[in-house]
Amino acid sequence: MKNNEINAREIPADESSGDSPEISGTTEVEKKNETENVDILAEIGKVDVSAEAGDVDIPAGDHIVTATAADGAVRITACESTSICEDARRIHGTSAVMTAALGRTLTAASLLSSQLKNATDSLTVQINGKGPGGKIICITDPDGNVRGYCVDPAVELPLREKDGKLDVGGAVGKGFLQIIKDLSLKEPYQGTSALVSGEIGEDISYYFAVSEQVPTTTSLGVRICPDPEGVQPFVVEKAGGFLLQLMPGAPDDLIGDLEARLGAMPSVTTLLAAGASVNDIVGDILTGYSPEIKAVKPIRYKCSCSRERMQAALCAIGRSDLQEILDDGKGAEICCRFCNRKYFFDNGDIRAMIDAG
Ligand SMILES: [Zn+2]
Repeated sequence: MKNNEINAREIPADESSGDSPEISGTTEVEKKNETENVDILAEIGKVDVSAEAGDVDIPAGDHIVTATAADGAVRITACESTSICEDARRIHGTSAVMTAALGRTLTAASLLSSQLKNATDSLTVQINGKGPGGKIICITDPDGNVRGYCVDPAVELPLREKDGKLDVGGAVGKGFLQIIKDLSLKEPYQGTSALVSGEIGEDISYYFAVSEQVPTTTSLGVRICPDPEGVQPFVVEKAGGFLLQLMPGAPDDLIGDLEARLGAMPSVTTLLAAGASVNDIVGDILTGYSPEIKAVKPIRYKCSCSRERMQAALCAIGRSDLQEILDDGKGAEICCRFCNRKYFFDNGDIRAMIDAG
C-alpha cells in the first residue's frame, strides 16, 4: 500500500524554499522530530516582542496574520491552515501528493484573501498544469472563507528520487497559474504566469514577479502524519505558509539579510509542529525590523454553495436539456465540486424551471 510506504519514510524539510510537504511517519521518525523540536523552540524563544499582536485576539484555529516591518518596506502575510487542508483531504479523499498540492493552493489562496476588501470580492487561484492531478481551483473571500478542488484527487505518484519528497510538481505538471480577482468592478482582474516548477510556492512568487512586479517569497507547506485514530491512512498534521513582499525602494541590505534569514529557517510546518504560533513565525522572520501586526483574522474551509445557486446552474444548461431531464423522469442530482454536497431536483422542480423560462 503506497501510503504506508510513504509514511515509513521521513521527508526532510526543504529549508531553502520552505515549500516542501514533510511527512512524519514511523515512531522512530516521530521521536527524532521531538528531539529536533527542542532546538527549534529555543530558536523561537528569540522572537522580537514587538511582533506581539497586543490586544488583538489570536484565534485558536486556522488564522492569518498580516504585518509590516522596516517602515513599511516589508509586508508579510502568514497563516496556519491545518484544519483547512485536513477538511479538504476529508472532503475530497485526496492522495498524499494531492493533499499537498491542493493544500498548498488553498493556503496560497487564504494568504491572498487578505488583499480583498469589499464583502462581495473574491479571488480565485487556478493551477492548470495538465499533470496527472488535473486542474486545481481554489476560491477565497475577504472573510477568510476558502474552498477548492482538484480534478483527480486520487492520483498518487512515487516520491521524488532526488530527495525522497512528495512529487507535487510531477502531479501538477507544466502549464499556467492564473489569479482572478473579482473586485465587484465591471470586469474581474486576471493575471497569468507560467508554472516554474508546479510546486505552487515558487509559482506564486514567480507570478508576483512577472505579473505585479513585486519581489515576493512564498512558503507553503502541508505536513501529513499517520492518523492517530488509525482510521485514515494519513491526516494533515500541520499546514501553513507565508507571503513576504518587498515594497519599492526596499534597501538592498534588507533584502540580503531577509534572504539569508529565510534560507536558514526551518519550514513553516516544522515550526508549527514544534509549537510556534503564526505570530512567533512572523516575529522570527522580521525580528530587528520593528514588525507591526496589522491584522489577525480566522480563516476556514467553507463552501458558498446553496440550493438557489445550484438551481441557477441547472437552469443555465438551457431549456432543451431541461426538457430532456424531465422526459427522462428521474430528476436531476447536482454535486458541488467544492464540498461534495448533493442537491436533488425532482420532476416538479424541473418543470417549474422550464415554465419560468
Ligand atoms: Zn459546496
